[in-house]
Amino acid sequence: MSLKQKVRDFVCHTGRYPNKRLGQNFLIDANILPKIVSEADIEPVDLVIEIGAGLGFLTSEIVKRANKTVTIEIDSFLCETLRQQFSDIPDFTLVEDDVLQLNLSRFFLGYDRKNVKIIGNLPYYASTPIVWKLLKYNQHINCCFLMFQTEVARRIVASPGSKDYGALSIGIDYYAKAEVVLHLSPNQFYPVPKVSSSLVKLTLRPQPKVLVKDEVLFFQLVRSAFQFRRKMLRNAIENGCINLDMEQMNRVFTILKIDSNRRGETLYISEFAEIANTFTATTG
Ligand code: SAM
Repeated sequence: MSLKQKVRDFVCHTGRYPNKRLGQNFLIDANILPKIVSEADIEPVDLVIEIGAGLGFLTSEIVKRANKTVTIEIDSFLCETLRQQFSDIPDFTLVEDDVLQLNLSRFFLGYDRKNVKIIGNLPYYASTPIVWKLLKYNQHINCCFLMFQTEVARRIVASPGSKDYGALSIGIDYYAKAEVVLHLSPNQFYPVPKVSSSLVKLTLRPQPKVLVKDEVLFFQLVRSAFQFRRKMLRNAIENGCINLDMEQMNRVFTILKIDSNRRGETLYISEFAEIANTFTATTG
């Protein structure tokens, strides 16, 4: 039976339609499931954590390769089905919870960082908060394979100067190396979403890409620069989300020889770090 038919059967037998609010667009292309999992290059010693198990289509593929799988699903009705489906699998843990509320630390106990991998066909409504949460576990997670709307994936991997480059690109780059590894069309999901999707591999950095003395200031500068994309850097910072001494900031631009007429979208992450660090050093 095709996976699409399986979803339809599930609806027929249970009267439960995929929940739009929970982003339930299931992967129904049986050929793409092993491709996603093989990207993760799972070794017997690995711990794989899946986010959003749905009807277990991707989960079935993960448990073929992983000796230890933890899967997190918020929908208690789907969890009932998943429990029955995977009851025979050793070292399989189903966690019925909201991943955004969950402390993930306990799952990593006893695992070497290099053996911890995350896979998720994420619900699009929460993909950005979920990825931010995962990045904060950079001391415990090696890599993540996450499905995003293609438009979000483009912003994640964008380089300075491109129209997609923004606070998300810099925030991700700070914690991880990002690359798009697969593109999927809407027809590979059911119900069919309105947008295309892309699988992004995030290789988490044990240490952030740039050394930043004051992370709060660094991220505030980045947010301000992109909040007013069309403004020159100096004006964007002045009108941004922080109240800074602009005379001091102008001195920082002079010290660093950074042209404050540039737009934020042309700045590299290292330049934002230099601005934040020099500002901290000269005001401290
Ligand atoms: N992995 C399945 C697949 O590929 O067919 C389902 C993917 S579906 C796009 C996203 C899944 O995440 C849904 O099953 C949904 O119920 C679940 N989900 C949504 N919000 C969640 C949250 N906050 N925490 C955990 N799971 C969530």
